Amino acid sequence: MAVATPPRSRWYPYQRDFLLRFNRAGAAFPAGYVTSFYRGAGAARDSQHRFGLALDVAFPGSPSRWPVRQLRAAMEAQGLVVVDERRGGSDHWTGPHLHVQRFPAGYLRSAGLL
Ligand SMILES: [Zn+2]
Repeated sequence: MAVATPPRSRWYPYQRDFLLRFNRAGAAFPAGYVTSFYRGAGAARDSQHRFGLALDVAFPGSPSRWPVRQLRAAMEAQGLVVVDERRGGSDHWTGPHLHVQRFPAGYLRSAGLL
């Protein structure tokens, strides 16, 4: 489960950092796959998907059997934030997934990056 660094933009340094961390943790989960990365205007206003700083991850099989605890631990060890959206979520839910983002909710705005 690895994701390539996107083209350069204002967000490139943050994206690069995010994906280095994500790929480091994600290497232990070869069965996982990414269902969503960038989202444009359809995303919630402050969603980190808009800036390439969030990814949605799914696994084959029943969501009740996904390695949620292990994935959360691995991602958090890299400083990432995991939201369990297997049963629904705040942003335009498209099916069971685990949402992984670079920063805590509200950080981009409070840090003046938006
Ligand atoms: Zn998401």
